[in-house]
Amino acid sequence: MTYLFSPPKQTTLKVRGTDDLFPVHRIYCVGRNYAAHAVEMGHDPDKEPPFFFQKNPDNLLPAGQDFPYPPKSDDVHHEIEMVVALKSGGENIPVEQALTCVYGYGVALDMTRRDLQAKMKEQGRPWEIGKAFEHSAPCSHLVPAETIGHPQQGAIWLKVNGEFTQQGDINQMIWKVAEMISTLSELFTLQAGDVIMTGTPSGVGPVKRGDRLHGHVDGVGDLEVKVV
Ligand code: MN
Repeated sequence: MTYLFSPPKQTTLKVRGTDDLFPVHRIYCVGRNYAAHAVEMGHDPDKEPPFFFQKNPDNLLPAGQDFPYPPKSDDVHHEIEMVVALKSGGENIPVEQALTCVYGYGVALDMTRRDLQAKMKEQGRPWEIGKAFEHSAPCSHLVPAETIGHPQQGAIWLKVNGEFTQQGDINQMIWKVAEMISTLSELFTLQAGDVIMTGTPSGVGPVKRGDRLHGHVDGVGDLEVKVV
């Protein structure tokens, strides 16, 4: 048997300071995982818990590359997020065991066509066209938990052209990393290579061509991206 055409290249993330490549399987994203962001989007975090959606693995934009402003939108927003990369998975993983699945952490942007997302929300339709487009997930190199541990608190921020737009602390997450892994594993079979984008603090807003985005999570790293 032969492939009809060359299979797509395996998407990977680099590991900081090494030649190792982390092969990416799926990208799960958590919506409204910081109360202040839920409020700025017009929701009550006490009544509506966080929830999941997905991006495609090949939506990842490797660190160092520019973010091309996507088509069919006039309102593309930045969402700075901490990323969790899994080295193992399973189903129905108890919260107490969940962190043993974690390979490491990174810093990513959940770039969002907010106008298309809003239209889909209004119509009760899926979010893909707002969230899962080409290059919609710029991501830093990963750092292993072996090196940095499992961050529970620390600043998460984004600057646009040198000015703070988003500022929070990862201790403000409604669902903690272990809870996200456990909850996801009740819905899907998690596996090595899965990546979770853990939600964004408040201050999301539009980007334009020429903007320079600089995201940071204490103890995890930095991500710098230019919009072109
Ligand atoms: Mn997000």
